[in-house]
Amino acid sequence: MDDQLKPSWLHEPSDVNAVDQNVWPRHLVRSSSGEIEIAGVAARSLVAEFGTPLYVIDEDDFRARATGVKTVFERAAASIGTSAKVYYAGKVFLTSEIAHWVNELGLNIDVASGGEFAAAIAGSIPAERIGYHGNNKSTREIARAVSAGVGAIVIDSEAEIERVAAAAAAQDKVQKVRLRVNTGVHANTHDYLATAREDQKFGVSMTDAPALVARIREFNHLEFLGVHSHIGSQIYSRDGFVEAVRRTVALHTELSKHGPVPELNLGGGFGVNYKPGDEAPSVTDFAEDIAIAVKVECHKHQISVPVLAFEPGRYIAANPGITLYTAGTIKDVTLADHHDAVRKYVSVDGGMSDNARTALYAADYHAIIASRASQASPALARVVGKHCESGDILVRYDYLPADVTSGDILAVAATGAYCYSLSSNYNMLTKPAVVAVRSGSARAIVRAETEADLFARDVRYQANGNG
Ligand SMILES: *Cc1c(COP(=O)(O)O)cnc(C)c1O
Repeated sequence: MDDQLKPSWLHEPSDVNAVDQNVWPRHLVRSSSGEIEIAGVAARSLVAEFGTPLYVIDEDDFRARATGVKTVFERAAASIGTSAKVYYAGKVFLTSEIAHWVNELGLNIDVASGGEFAAAIAGSIPAERIGYHGNNKSTREIARAVSAGVGAIVIDSEAEIERVAAAAAAQDKVQKVRLRVNTGVHANTHDYLATAREDQKFGVSMTDAPALVARIREFNHLEFLGVHSHIGSQIYSRDGFVEAVRRTVALHTELSKHGPVPELNLGGGFGVNYKPGDEAPSVTDFAEDIAIAVKVECHKHQISVPVLAFEPGRYIAANPGITLYTAGTIKDVTLADHHDAVRKYVSVDGGMSDNARTALYAADYHAIIASRASQASPALARVVGKHCESGDILVRYDYLPADVTSGDILAVAATGAYCYSLSSNYNMLTKPAVVAVRSGSARAIVRAETEADLFARDVRYQANGNG
């Protein structure tokens, strides 16, 4: 990890109390008292009721983004004479309540494990609107999905063709499947997230795909829907998608010569703003470029435009979510390597257990004081957790008011994606509650873990009648 004093994108804020609409939930404001309110609920009253750390989600913002993305892709598809299916990528942030919202809003959902499948079903999503992913689905997961009538299984390997066909045959069903292909498109993103490069575990190569689709077509119990491509995550560049369209439509054309290929799934990966100054394209920009590329390529290959499918996750869930923490120990660390500049280390009561992304992907986040406005000037700060790792960082580079003090409530922006879903009990910390706020009221959709929960599966603890 290169520890520069501050990266070039970080600018000293002109107003430490500012709330940047680019990153915070739509209904988050700093009220006249100086305190942050989300959908009409004050930060301090959320903390009084639910404690910290706390995941807070602006429910109407989540709903608006989900609906907005669905509409955008449907319109873009309609503009080229086809339709679009939009799947919310469940791994991003999933509880049965969120699945319920997704269902109400008419989106489909993607899952990648038995647990995610159960959450979707618990949210009343009809099985036929579920897409099932994963590079190593168990035979049990496959059998359960087939038996429930899952809408599509995304086959990720040659071996999985036989597995899905066997499950479908055993239940005398015809299972719809897609084939995940590895287009080789290098999306402009962090290495670990770039899932379409060749030297990685997902999908099958473009070269192998025709033979594998022929194999799929040999099974009466399988129905081939089309190819699936997911080129990465947190993508800002539209070129990667356009290139993926070129490659997948060429393959799609080839496959169409030997049987029907009704759909083309182009995955997710649409990037969002995490910090002031980020300029993620709007999903409208992505959708328009993709639609034009699909139209051009289909025309070139003289095939009809297939039904399109998309799988946005982060774009829906990231910005409606924030995390609230209570500041504890604060240290001014003098940096000899940087002309004795001072970085304020603000320790909070959570950390890499509730947000692993900074440690895992060197992700950047943005924080503010949520419990009050400050008259102090900005100070270079780093928000760190309470875990026993120096890499336990939540916000690596930011400014906070110089008077930030123990007991202040901090809010970190855009934590709605890949935070709760990646959370752990490292250092035996209990996982935070998830609270949905809407029109002035707050309700827990997942309660906070208790110490008793931590030991619920600890055999000796339970045998001794503790807790
Ligand atoms: C993770 C994932 C997505 C969602 O990616 P985002 O970057 O959150 O939009 C979509 N499709 C597949 C197959 C995925 O693995």
